[in-house]
Amino acid sequence: MKFNPNLAQIKVYEGGKPIELVIREYGIKPEDIVKLASNENPFGVSKKVENALQKAAKNVYMYPDDSMLALKDALSKKYQIKNENLIIGAGSDQVIFFAVNAKSHPKMKILTAKTTFAMYDIYAKQVGATILKTPSHQHILSEFLEIYEANKDIDIIFLCLPNNPLGECLKREDVYQFLEKIGSNTLVVIDGAYQDFASAKDDAMHIEPSDLINRFQNALYLGTFSKSYALGGLRVGYGIAQKEIMDTLYKMRPPFNVTSLSLEGALAALEDKDFLSKSIENNFKEMKKYESFARENKIDFINSFTNFITLLFSDDMSSKECAQILLKKGIIIRDLTSYGVNGIRVTIGTPAQNDRFLEEFKKLL
Ligand SMILES: *Cc1c(COP(=O)(O)O)cnc(C)c1O
Repeated sequence: MKFNPNLAQIKVYEGGKPIELVIREYGIKPEDIVKLASNENPFGVSKKVENALQKAAKNVYMYPDDSMLALKDALSKKYQIKNENLIIGAGSDQVIFFAVNAKSHPKMKILTAKTTFAMYDIYAKQVGATILKTPSHQHILSEFLEIYEANKDIDIIFLCLPNNPLGECLKREDVYQFLEKIGSNTLVVIDGAYQDFASAKDDAMHIEPSDLINRFQNALYLGTFSKSYALGGLRVGYGIAQKEIMDTLYKMRPPFNVTSLSLEGALAALEDKDFLSKSIENNFKEMKKYESFARENKIDFINSFTNFITLLFSDDMSSKECAQILLKKGIIIRDLTSYGVNGIRVTIGTPAQNDRFLEEFKKLL
């Protein structure tokens, strides 16, 4: 059968290994599994969210409120924007899909860092776009600028701030200076999936969406409930931009793209500020354990502004093998070999999970 020829070059995306597969393949008891592979919140779901979901369950026979008014109002208040500046997606993933398709044309070009969130590539390949990448793995704005200047007609630039899977971030002032040099036809996507973590660690990294879109009409900010808010399973994310961009993104949106449970869960999560601050506090406190461990054992790591830490191995150690050995012990982390990096990305877990990982990892050194 003939298919869309653009799809021939796409490899089916494999996320962090699902717990169910590890249980089945290695016969490990579910309670012995430590999953630090998908940047999920180690505290599980907040009690307030759980209650809201239970209450909402009786209404799932009805279609969701497709205006999403309650969640939009809450997000608009949080960010001091108007509802017309917002679009809500089934994860911010879906908003990336909308953006790529909204800008797509036969000669489309996108620009990203060499090692960054895999979905930018996948959606761009689906529409046959040319994908340009900076030579360095991490975000270096001068490299972005050089490629941009050499190809003025770039349709979308993706800045993942902070970056998944490496963890580095850029200062707001540097990002704004960069944006000043980018023409109005280039959509600049600022993926803020981990901004809550970055802002808590260093205010110089903080990007305020209202400020961003008021200064730059061509910017699209992305946020998600999957990481700091612990709602990965509900699939809720959002985009924030000027109305002109929004009006086009809405043409891409399928009706009822966000479930009623997801809308209610996200609303409750926004209100549970204690859960959020506890999560962020635990994250950076526990991250120190990893940093000290790495220093003591002479392992390179990237200064992380996220809820994970990326450890970089020297040539005498293979991240692929390391991930395999840990997996057989029920510890799931993300090997970065497929990104061209000999290293692993480890989500910061609960104190017990981190201790278990570090204990098993030490045996491999
Ligand atoms: C997790 C993540 C997202 C989006 O996740 P959703 O669950 O689709 O909201 C977007 N960008 C980055 C960099 C991420 O790590």
